[in-house]
Amino acid sequence: MSQTRQVEPARRDAAASQRIAPELRRVLDAASIQACHAALADAAQPLCAEFGFSLLTAAEIAPAPQGPAIVWQYDGSLHKSDSHLRAWLARASCNLGRFLAFGDDAAGLVMAGALEADAPMVTLIADCTQLPLPLESAMRDLAEFSARRLYQLRRESETVRRRQRLDMDGARDAALLRASADLIWEAGSDGILHVTHIFQDRRDLARLFEGRVLGDITVGTRDLQRAAQTGQVLRSLPVTVAGAEEPLFLTACPSSGASAPFPLRGTIAAAPVQVQERLAIDTTTLETILASRHREERLRRETETMMLGLRILLGDAPFREKLEQLVKRLASAIDSDEIRLVQFRPGEAPRLVLPEKLAVKEAALAEIATLAGARPITLMPESDQDNARIRDALNMRNGDIALIALPAPAERYYLLCRARRSLNSDDHGLAERVSLLLQQAILLQADQKQILHSAKLSALGQMSTGIAHELRQPLNAISIAAQNIDLMVGLGKAGPEFLQEKTERILAQIDRACKVMDRMRRFGRKTVGDHKPASPAAIARSARSLMDPVIIASGIAVDIEIPDELEVSADELEVEQVLVNLIQNASDAMAGRPGGKIRIWSRDDPDDPGVIRLEVEDNGPGFPPEVLKHALDAFFTTKPEGKGTGLGLSIAHAILREHGGRLLVGNSEAGGGLITLVLRRPEAAFPSLASRSAMAATP
Ligand code: ADP
Repeated sequence: MSQTRQVEPARRDAAASQRIAPELRRVLDAASIQACHAALADAAQPLCAEFGFSLLTAAEIAPAPQGPAIVWQYDGSLHKSDSHLRAWLARASCNLGRFLAFGDDAAGLVMAGALEADAPMVTLIADCTQLPLPLESAMRDLAEFSARRLYQLRRESETVRRRQRLDMDGARDAALLRASADLIWEAGSDGILHVTHIFQDRRDLARLFEGRVLGDITVGTRDLQRAAQTGQVLRSLPVTVAGAEEPLFLTACPSSGASAPFPLRGTIAAAPVQVQERLAIDTTTLETILASRHREERLRRETETMMLGLRILLGDAPFREKLEQLVKRLASAIDSDEIRLVQFRPGEAPRLVLPEKLAVKEAALAEIATLAGARPITLMPESDQDNARIRDALNMRNGDIALIALPAPAERYYLLCRARRSLNSDDHGLAERVSLLLQQAILLQADQKQILHSAKLSALGQMSTGIAHELRQPLNAISIAAQNIDLMVGLGKAGPEFLQEKTERILAQIDRACKVMDRMRRFGRKTVGDHKPASPAAIARSARSLMDPVIIASGIAVDIEIPDELEVSADELEVEQVLVNLIQNASDAMAGRPGGKIRIWSRDDPDDPGVIRLEVEDNGPGFPPEVLKHALDAFFTTKPEGKGTGLGLSIAHAILREHGGRLLVGNSEAGGGLITLVLRRPEAAFPSLASRSAMAATP
């Protein structure tokens, strides 16, 4: 059966992102060039080893006029200076994507990060000439993905550098203007001075200087060159120029953008008596301006980080994805390239949440809470003993560590960031502010869990009449059996066989009643959102038993057609809550219609092998178009007061989203309601923002 119209609330490129291998994901998620190199090396080496070969080299290459240059190289047996390697690279970079033999017993390829001629390239060479096809294709993917990520990262850092340069230039111009100069000049790589601004109407001076060779008008040419190279500001150099009738002084500072020998700009001023004093004041001004520019830049970066963080916080992504993205923001704000997120839950041993699947010394995790104490942030310098212990336990490299506590009502998280440089008080403040966003995400998640739980309790409340009915049956049976015993004992006819039969009946009925109570108790439990391999068939059966009272009372048949061996990654109780709600909705929709049927079945997803679809289909009237439009909105209901809360489908949607899946609402071809739960298979990776955007760029 195929569905006709389906609303897809949060479209995600799950299909694409699920296919991506974890080692490629690490490359794509790398937050810095160094991290990308490390991820490339970490992936390439075991990849070759898996096929019984060794990695001779993995390297990032930059196109250069004299042939491709190695800018980073994995520590393999080939060396940068090897002329054979350089010649091979020149050839392979003209044959992008093709495996070429390297000598007699090795082969490799070069991939480029983009079409641009100056895009970075990545090469991988293994000690084998006949590479097995799967290895070839994996090496090609790895080289391509890392070249792409390096291209993005290099472009990002170039943009930041350019912006900083422009800001610096702006600051200098402002300072020079305040120097009450007569002229502002700049000199290009030819050393020829051009006047860019004229003040105090000194056009006469401008005419004298325009087009002059800088070296001809000052004595300190060498000083100028040095200033250009070192970034130093030169003040009050005396200037001599034919035709000048007054003493003139020149200031110069490097102007980024042009290239040596004279990438300079500066002022020329007719020197009044107090010129020295004036220039001294202006130097202070210049420095103040530069310092305030620096502060401004920091604040701007911080605001940008906070805005981005807010956008992530308020976005539609699952909690886990938000957490991952916010942690990455925080890490990059304080220049950290290694993070660990550890979760503490009451009654459970602390566990590492991020990064996934990293081996750590679990027994040592408990100490983190003690080290953090009640402080929001603890800085642990590299020289600290605690730092060394924690790094060892959490498998981190050397460096200062910021330990950030993120408390929430039911659980606590601790974030540990290893910094590339020593952390200062600015980092401390920034980390504290960004961590507020992280904490907010955790609190929102706790609120969402609370809403989920309230909805569950309300569903239990709605079921209470049915539960009472279901309990009444075994209680009646027990009561009848007891009365029979009483009667027969009174008549003196209660033989051992009779008594045994009645006792067994009573025990069976007690067992039945207990099962009803257990199901309710289990359903009423708070969930923690732990996703584990689970059987959708078992979950569906359990939801059906919970809804037995409703189903029996309304004469509906519920068929479950899901293979027992099928598994999905799920929090059983949460998915059960969704199914209970869908059965309730379907039975409400079919109320008063005879022959009501609900079919719960599973099928593969045609677009994505990483997910399965659970379909809940009924033969009721289906969703009218105007209901369909709002079905997922919170508090939207067409049911009378006291019956509908309007939260069922919107909560189901939130639950599925937290599972890395989605909920589709629509009608079947036959016209009844058809709701699809898209769930990940246990082995499929959780879709992440980073991988989605990366894959969006992949053809
Ligand atoms: P509630 O059940 O409390 O009204 P839901 O969010 O679960 O809230 O459902 C929203 C609305 O969607 C319902 O009021 C109903 O009009 C419609 N609906 C839900 N399930 C079905 C279904 N199986 N068939 C037809 N309409 C449905």
